Amino acid sequence: MTTLREEDVERFRRDTPGTGEVIHLNNAGSALPPAQVTDAVLDYLREESRRGGYETAAAHTDRIQGVYHSVARFLGAEAGDISVTDSATRSWQAVFYALRFSPGEKILTCRSEYASNAIAYLQIARRTGAVVEVVGDDESGQLDVADLERRLDGTVRLIAITHVPTQGGLVNPAEEVGAIAERAGIPFLLDACQSAGQLDLDVRRLRCDALSGTGRKYVRGPRGTGFLYTHPRLRERIEPAMLDLHSATWTAPDAYEVAPDGRRFETWERNHGLVLGLGAAVDYALAIGLPAIEERVTTLAARLRADLARIPGVTVHDQGERKCGIVTFSVAGADATDVRNRLSASRINTSVSHRTSYQYDQEVRHLPDMVRSSVHYYNTEDELRALVDVVEKLA
Ligand SMILES: *Cc1c(COP(=O)(O)O)cnc(C)c1O
Repeated sequence: MTTLREEDVERFRRDTPGTGEVIHLNNAGSALPPAQVTDAVLDYLREESRRGGYETAAAHTDRIQGVYHSVARFLGAEAGDISVTDSATRSWQAVFYALRFSPGEKILTCRSEYASNAIAYLQIARRTGAVVEVVGDDESGQLDVADLERRLDGTVRLIAITHVPTQGGLVNPAEEVGAIAERAGIPFLLDACQSAGQLDLDVRRLRCDALSGTGRKYVRGPRGTGFLYTHPRLRERIEPAMLDLHSATWTAPDAYEVAPDGRRFETWERNHGLVLGLGAAVDYALAIGLPAIEERVTTLAARLRADLARIPGVTVHDQGERKCGIVTFSVAGADATDVRNRLSASRINTSVSHRTSYQYDQEVRHLPDMVRSSVHYYNTEDELRALVDVVEKLA
């Protein structure tokens, strides 16, 4: 693996106009895109305005198809296993709402589960009588693999967890979960929305049946883009909850056939400019190399955690044996929103993780609202020091 050098980072920053404007430590919210991404989107939209939308799409079919190959390479998958959507939520829903549950069948999830996913479980539990069970954490704060194994019985219909939660630096042991799910023959749905783009993901190692991700976060793509990986064995077993003339073909007045590949989870209409922007972002990350990105992100975040933890009155909240680029903290006696606003007055972008948005976690952790600073490979040590200086003055 090659380690990123200072001159590499300088080049990435030159590619990223936003780095001259702000200290962007809100990459878990929406990262700054490189100019290559913005140009891909805008050039395409301009061409549409001159040539017509359908005509422009026809002229770029190969490039648009290329996006599927890029996302596939990014995840260690085949192009036919990829769906391009407009968000991680849409991707995740496309799989979850295709599953069928009977009364008493179980959904196993994790403590750090994302709010939207938990709400969907509750809705389906109410509607079908399915049961949601939250697997415990081990002492490190990551999903307890032994507890997961203990809960496996003939009634478990789905294992669905979040790889990296929105509210902290934790990395759940997704590969171990995947091995367990595969052995038990239970579908494994992985929310990789925060890990994609900062960690080196490979669906063959993760052994997931489905993986959802978004464009705008660590992938550095445009807003309004998302992607989905599905294993052929899952696609054989489920039919999408909703179909159209793109995800299926009307083959006779009373018959239709569902597309065999990832297209079955898409709809016909899309913003092709954004799709190309997503492709440009994935290509940019692939050119750098995900192992090198992961190394720099985790190293910078570890340093930031250590520097923050040294300030009296500051508590760093990240858990887990393995940690990533998300760093959450609180300042005694200071409201998280005030801290965020104070940082933003110094042109330092962070965000707030509100305690109500992670109810499962909250049952055992009783956290305050937290400031979330999320580091990317294009951030510098000087930028981290700027954040630490502001927090030090506040504390
Ligand atoms: C942001 C986020 C999502 C939702 O992504 P969208 O693209 O906004 O739909 C899902 N899961 C996790 C863990 C997230 O952080």
